[in-house]
Amino acid sequence: MLRRSTALLELRSQAPAPAAKHLSAGSLRALVGCLALLVFGFGCITPAPLPPSCRPPSTSPTAPSWRYSQTSWDKLGQIEAWLTGPGRRASSSLRMEAHLELAEGRLHFARSDRDRLPSTTIQSRLEAARADFQAVLASHAAGSTHRSRATRGLNSVATLERGLAASGGPYVRSAPLSRQRWGAAPANSARLTPNDHGWTRVTVHHSARPAAAMRGASVASVAEELRRYQKTHMGERGWGDIGYHYLIDPSGRVFEGRSLRWQGAHAGGNNNRQNLGICLLGNFEDERPTSAALAALDGLIGDFRSTYNIPRERVYGHRELKVTACPGRNLTAWVESYRGGRSSPVAHSPAASKPSRGSWSQATSGRGVR
Ligand SMILES: [Zn+2]
Repeated sequence: MLRRSTALLELRSQAPAPAAKHLSAGSLRALVGCLALLVFGFGCITPAPLPPSCRPPSTSPTAPSWRYSQTSWDKLGQIEAWLTGPGRRASSSLRMEAHLELAEGRLHFARSDRDRLPSTTIQSRLEAARADFQAVLASHAAGSTHRSRATRGLNSVATLERGLAASGGPYVRSAPLSRQRWGAAPANSARLTPNDHGWTRVTVHHSARPAAAMRGASVASVAEELRRYQKTHMGERGWGDIGYHYLIDPSGRVFEGRSLRWQGAHAGGNNNRQNLGICLLGNFEDERPTSAALAALDGLIGDFRSTYNIPRERVYGHRELKVTACPGRNLTAWVESYRGGRSSPVAHSPAASKPSRGSWSQATSGRGVR
C-alpha cells in the first residue's frame, strides 16, 4: 500500500513537476489538495472518497481519465488513486492495464531521469515498476498481450539496473545490500576458515523455499528470511556464519552474506575451498527464477569472474559437486547455459526469460516504453 503512493510522493517532490508546469494556479492548488488528501487521508487501509475537484472527468470504470493520456506524473497519480478507488470495481482486464501503465510510466521516468537523479531514486522507481510487472505476470487475469508487455517491462528494468550497476549503482558486487541492512548477527570467527588463496570457482545454489511469496517483497521481509537462514546455519548446523557469500532475492537485489575473508559453507568439505557460494532465494526445482534475479546473478558472477580471473567453465550448480537437487532443474539449466558461453540463458517462460544482448540493446534504444 505504501508503494502505491510513490508516484504521488514523487509528484509532490518534483519542483516543479514537468506535468505541473502546464497547470493553472487554481488547478495546481486543487491538485495539491487532492494529493494531500490522497497521501494523508487515504492512509494504508481504506481510501476516502475523492472530493469533486479530484474526480477524473469520467469515473466510469470502463473509461477512466488516465486511459489513453500521455505519460506524466499526473497520470501515474491518477492511476494510483483509481486503483484504490473506482478501479476496485473495474474489470480485471482494465486493472491489468492500470498496473501495466503505472509500471511502464515509472520505467519511463527511471529511464529519462537516470542521468540527473541519484541512483537510489532511479532504483526505487525500477523496484516499484518491477513489482507491478510481476503482479501482472502472477495474475490469472493477465492475457497474452498483458504478459508480453510485463515481460518486456521486466527485461527493460533489468537492463536499466545493469546500467546502474555499471555506473556504480546498487547492483554491483562492490555494493550489495550490507549485512547491517538485513540485520545479520555477528559471525563467529572461531568457527570460520580463512580464504587465503583467492577464488577459483563459483557455485550457485537455491534456498529451496518457494519464492512466490517474496516476489515484490520489501527489503525488510527478505531480511527476515535471511536472518532465519543465518540462525539455522549458526544454530542448528553450528557454522560460524550464514553459509553463502551472496544471496539474491526475486527482485534481483543482492545481499552480502558471509565475508569474503572466509571460506563458505555451502558445497561440502573441500568443495568449499576457494569456492564462492551464491544462493538465489526460491525453489527452482518447481518454479522459475525471475529475469531480475537472473540478471543480478549474471552481473554478480561476471563481475566476480573478471576480478578473480575465473573461467566461465568454473561456474557450477551445487548438484554437480554433491548429490542434491540444489539449485533445482530450472536454475541448473541456466548455469549450464551460462557455462556454455551463451549470454542468453535458457528461456523457461516469458517470466523467466532474459533477452539476448541484442534484444537488450533494442529495449534501450531510446524509444518510449510503449
Ligand atoms: Zn546448494
